[in-house]
Amino acid sequence: MRVYLDHNATSPLRPEARALWLEVSDALGGNPSSLHLSGRRARAAVDLARERVARALNVSEDELVFTAGGTEAINLALQGVAAAGEPRGLVTTAAEHSAVLETSRALELRGHPLHLLDVDRRGRPVLAGLAGLLESQGVGLVSVMAANNEVGSLADLPAVAAILADAARAAGGRRAVFHTDAVQALGRIPVDLAAWGVDVACFSAHKVGGPRGVGVLWRRAGTSLAPTVYGGGQESALRPGTEDVAGIAAAALAIELAVAEQAEFEEHTSALVELLWRDVERALPGVQRIGPGLDERRLPNTLALLVPGTDGKVLVTRLDLEGLEVSAGSACASGAIEPSHVLRAMGYDEDEARSGLRLSLGKNTSREECKHVARLLKKLFASSRAT
Ligand code: PLP
Repeated sequence: MRVYLDHNATSPLRPEARALWLEVSDALGGNPSSLHLSGRRARAAVDLARERVARALNVSEDELVFTAGGTEAINLALQGVAAAGEPRGLVTTAAEHSAVLETSRALELRGHPLHLLDVDRRGRPVLAGLAGLLESQGVGLVSVMAANNEVGSLADLPAVAAILADAARAAGGRRAVFHTDAVQALGRIPVDLAAWGVDVACFSAHKVGGPRGVGVLWRRAGTSLAPTVYGGGQESALRPGTEDVAGIAAAALAIELAVAEQAEFEEHTSALVELLWRDVERALPGVQRIGPGLDERRLPNTLALLVPGTDGKVLVTRLDLEGLEVSAGSACASGAIEPSHVLRAMGYDEDEARSGLRLSLGKNTSREECKHVARLLKKLFASSRAT
């Protein structure tokens, strides 16, 4: 039996999205910018996709930009906001995905002073220093991820928005633009962009059963954003280039379905994570669960562990040989596993950060699979002790 518990890395294509992708690929071969019938039909498919995503996110269609993935959307958000304003400071958190961290570092090199907020032991941003930074550092952009991909912690986005509004009132100036990387939040926790108080948010289709390589950027009407690539004017000239019509259509359907099924997903995976943790705790003496408590707000599908005395990379390889697909820390370009920057930011030392293991469940993960995984972990560790 092979078990895939790496849905935070990517979640398999939904059959409905696959069917639509094939249908659009076969039937709608035109360029959406062409004026003839084939072009108009392809344009209609992109328009329908935009309507679907707008309805699912409760936003206007003209506030959405389709991109080639979450990373590209985040690059457009951060670089586009920075390019639209004068060089000002940037605040983000130490536990962001590399799409945000590396873009922020690139902006720092271009003259935007960068400040990283700490996270607490459970992976939540510490907001205590934010007001002071806003007051003294001329910050124009704040980026805080909605849900952390490695440990499942959630940020209090409305609290961040309130701090930004207070700082702007006190200074009698413009409020810093507020961006959130909502890639892991979509379909897993309720996404309410108005209640979150954000101006820009980014999403990725492949985390919710859409195709890889399609992302969505939402920006509140009136938020200034400059393009970072130039071309034929597609996507409000913010992401020019001939649209991936089939990918966009399939992505929009996956997003619509994931949002509609979010409560069910949360209930299903949350219960399974609790069951899995109880079994894993019994199976692996010394194992620790990290991230938010099971009774706290969290990504429902994510179980982050420290397995003391092990190396995450070795463990992932051994588990793979046994048919279990999970993940450790983030892979660097050389293929080596660096100690996770998220765990380091949470205050774990290098050895602890190297022993991290992440199990992330999907909508079709079953109780039997979770039971199997716990048995497998027990067997593996019993045999490693015997040798
Ligand atoms: N942000 C977070 C939190 C993610 O987990 C990921 C995916 O790993 C991304 C951004 C990047 O998305 P994509 O893989 O679509 O580029």
